[in-house]
Amino acid sequence: MEKMTKLLLNLLSLPLVLLSAQGVFAEDHQGHAAHSHGMGILDLSIHGKTVKASFEIPMESLLGHEYLPRSADQKKAMADLKAGVAKASYFMSFPAAAQCQEKSVKTESAMFEGKKSEHADLDADLEVECAKPEALTQIEFPLFAKHRRLGSLKVNMVGPKGQKSLTVKAKDPVLRW
Ligand SMILES: [Zn+2]
Repeated sequence: MEKMTKLLLNLLSLPLVLLSAQGVFAEDHQGHAAHSHGMGILDLSIHGKTVKASFEIPMESLLGHEYLPRSADQKKAMADLKAGVAKASYFMSFPAAAQCQEKSVKTESAMFEGKKSEHADLDADLEVECAKPEALTQIEFPLFAKHRRLGSLKVNMVGPKGQKSLTVKAKDPVLRW
C-alpha cells in the first residue's frame, strides 16, 4: 500500500518536473528571442510611492556593437554609458509635481565586465520613490534621445490602473496611463 502511494506520488510529480523544465527552457528561449536589436524590455511596477523598473536593453542599441570595444572611441563610449546608466534619470523622467527621487540603481552587462558574448544586454534595476504619486500620470524616457538605435520599449506594467502591456516608441517616448 505504501509502495503504491509512493509510486503514485512519483507519477504525480513527474509532470510537474517536466513542466518546470519546460518553463526554464521557455524562459531561456524567450530571453534570446526577446533580444531583437532596437527593442528593449521594461518591467514596471508602481505601488503607492514606489516605482520599480527593470530594463533589459540590447547593448547593440546602446553602443552600435556587441563586441568588446576596440578603438579608443568605442572604449570611451562604453565608459560614458557605464557612468550614465548609474542614474535613474538616464532612463526615465517623471512629472515634477510627483516629486520623485532615485532610491537605487543597479546595472550590469557582460560587456562591462569584459566578457565576450554573441549578444549582450544591459540590465538595469531601478527604484524610485515619489512623494506625490497622485501626480504621477506618465513617465518619459530620455533614453531614446540618447540612443538613436533604440526604436522601442516593450513595457509590462502593473500600476494604479492595473496591469497592461504596451510598446513605447522612440518617436513618442512617453508612457501614459
Ligand atoms: Zn544582439
